[in-house]
Amino acid sequence: MSFNHHPQKFIDSFGRHIEDLRISVIDKCNFRCTYCMPAEGLPWLKKSELLTFDEIERLVRISVERGIKSVRVTGGEPTVRAGLPELIHRLVNIPGLEDVSLTTNGFLLRKMAKDLAEAGLTRINVSLDTLVREKFQHITRRDHLSEVLAGLEELEKYPSIRPIKINTVAIRGFTEPEVLDFARLARRKPYVVRFIEFMPLDADQTWSPDKILTGREIFEMINAVYPLVPVDTDPSSTSRVYRFADGKGEIGFINPVSEPFCSTCNRIRITADGQLRTCLFSTWETDLRTPLRSGMSDDQIGEIMLQAIKKKEMKHKINEPGFVRANRTMSQIGG
Ligand code: SAM
Ligand code: SF4
Repeated sequence: MSFNHHPQKFIDSFGRHIEDLRISVIDKCNFRCTYCMPAEGLPWLKKSELLTFDEIERLVRISVERGIKSVRVTGGEPTVRAGLPELIHRLVNIPGLEDVSLTTNGFLLRKMAKDLAEAGLTRINVSLDTLVREKFQHITRRDHLSEVLAGLEELEKYPSIRPIKINTVAIRGFTEPEVLDFARLARRKPYVVRFIEFMPLDADQTWSPDKILTGREIFEMINAVYPLVPVDTDPSSTSRVYRFADGKGEIGFINPVSEPFCSTCNRIRITADGQLRTCLFSTWETDLRTPLRSGMSDDQIGEIMLQAIKKKEMKHKINEPGFVRANRTMSQIGG
């Protein structure tokens, strides 16, 4: 039980109110996307190192008391964590939490969509970088495009899960030929396609500035064929959203490299092994698992989180000389 009924809110030293928590539930994945993991995988965490559902639920409750409004469950590949729908069910029932969403590669969705819908999930992001089988095989190192497309179709049967967002990492030399195909997909299906700029978080360290295909460039390519109209979004939103002028569908751009949104960043992350990270590009993290397992109170744990949040980085330095890569890959952090 907490003694302090008005715990101090999560506000950082730049006055940013931290309202969005991304929590990774597993570091493992059934894909090996080249921009994320090495072909052979990574040294996986032991089961005892992963936060339990009780621990995750407790951290989310503590965070909600201190201002977190939305939680995104991610990984690694969250659907690989046994019992995921149960965790979703627990999270959607936390009082005061406004929004729970899931980010997945979609491979297991055909079988899991129903359970997720029944668990109360209302929002989902499916990662899909290409609609061409050979390119899919190349980028994910798995031949599973048809399963992902089937998973997306399965989701359409559950109208309680909307919007269905597709996240597409944009890579120069890879994505350009399919930009208009993705636009047509967004027009034809109830999917909001969002292009994300490639960030230096890949295990193989193949990222380089010339591989960034900016959101602006993709916007121009689409707008020339299918005129786009801006849609108002929340100021802390990371994506710029447009709708097609003729009313058929929406498209978005997440431009962390070319147009950083750090000044309005309201996000923190917790890794699958219970480390709090205040920025994707942090070079340090704060252990929450030891406090959780050593009998500390909710107030004490909330206070540890707050102290870390007060040190949240002003901005990432991808575009600056001497940029230092984060000490973990995207799959280990929880993108
Ligand atoms: N496995 C799930 C998936 O792929 O959706 C969830 C975890 S994954 C790390 C979360 C998101 O990060 C995915 O949309 C993925 O495409 C994106 N991502 C991974 N590495 C990235 C990178 N280097 N730059 C930009 N986005 C990246
Ligand atoms: Fe797995 Fe997602 Fe990383 Fe791809 S991006 S390897 S699906 S964690």
